[in-house]
Amino acid sequence: MRFEVSKVLDAIERRLSIDPAVAAGVVDLTEVMRLGDLDGGRPANLLRLGLVVDALAQRLGDSAAATYVVADRALMSDTELTSNERMVIRRWSDDGLIEVLPAGTPVVPRVREISALTGLAMITRVGGGSPSYAPLPAPGGVSLVAHSGQPAVAPPHANPALGRVWTCPEFGCPSFDESRTAGQPPPTFAKGAPTCPRHGARLVDAGPRPVSWPMAVRVDGLVRHRFAVPSGSTVTVGRAPEGADVVAVGPYLDEAGIRWVSRSHSRLELRDGVLTIGDTSTNGTTLLRRTGPTEKPKTEKLSNGQRVQLGEWDVIVLFEGVEIARADRLPARSPAKTPESVMADAPTQALRIAR
Ligand SMILES: [Zn+2]
Repeated sequence: MRFEVSKVLDAIERRLSIDPAVAAGVVDLTEVMRLGDLDGGRPANLLRLGLVVDALAQRLGDSAAATYVVADRALMSDTELTSNERMVIRRWSDDGLIEVLPAGTPVVPRVREISALTGLAMITRVGGGSPSYAPLPAPGGVSLVAHSGQPAVAPPHANPALGRVWTCPEFGCPSFDESRTAGQPPPTFAKGAPTCPRHGARLVDAGPRPVSWPMAVRVDGLVRHRFAVPSGSTVTVGRAPEGADVVAVGPYLDEAGIRWVSRSHSRLELRDGVLTIGDTSTNGTTLLRRTGPTEKPKTEKLSNGQRVQLGEWDVIVLFEGVEIARADRLPARSPAKTPESVMADAPTQALRIAR
């Protein structure tokens, strides 16, 4: 039983990120783990986070959607959690997978701030952010229900501080260190100047943030993989490309797809803020061009050796149903498949295990 629980926690762990380009929703861990009516189990249970991660994937049709978790440091000594759960929270914090605020800091205002700065949806019963969804019990799991009167999408606040790289003076800060340049969380502005939410320390400006395009691979309407193309780099996509900076779509292809898609099919390259795509395939790459979310796309074929500029609303089609597009500009489409559950390994009664 214990082994299965740790497998579920590992599956949840792979879907945690404080990088707003990878995350799709933001939650207050204290609230989520205490939503006892979701499963009728013990008052506090870390596995409830998995129910919410699944509900978000379901709502978005996105098997790779990460959750931005904010927690109060006091949870690490909360005796309503098991010692294993407290240890896991500490590890997630040390690894920079979740954001932990000093003990006693109100979490909800920080969750609202993250939502406002990044446009990420708040997943909470409290509401008050826009957009926000309440996790509620539903047949077969948990569903996210939009709070009434909330717009479905909100543009993030344009804050020039988000275009900078920040470092925290606290040694080894897992949120704002030198190595974490592209995927930094937003600073907190509760005290006016950009501050580390984890340590309360004033952040140091380390220069402009390198441009990076967040991309997603969508198969039959379901997002299966997210990746970034950082400035000055090339990412090769294909059935089974070799080397570093590659995205392999082979595992998602059927037999016809495996025959059609080349081992190295296309190359994405970001130079001076311009993303280009070059075709390196046998059968060619199809582009669906559009300049805005509501426009009808125009089809363009690229053949081997051709390289063109990619617009932010364009979709790359490697094979029927296998698309690559900017993760934050995906055209709406209802998935033909159900996202994979992080709770797949959970024993049936996992949430009811007594401490
Ligand atoms: Zn810090």
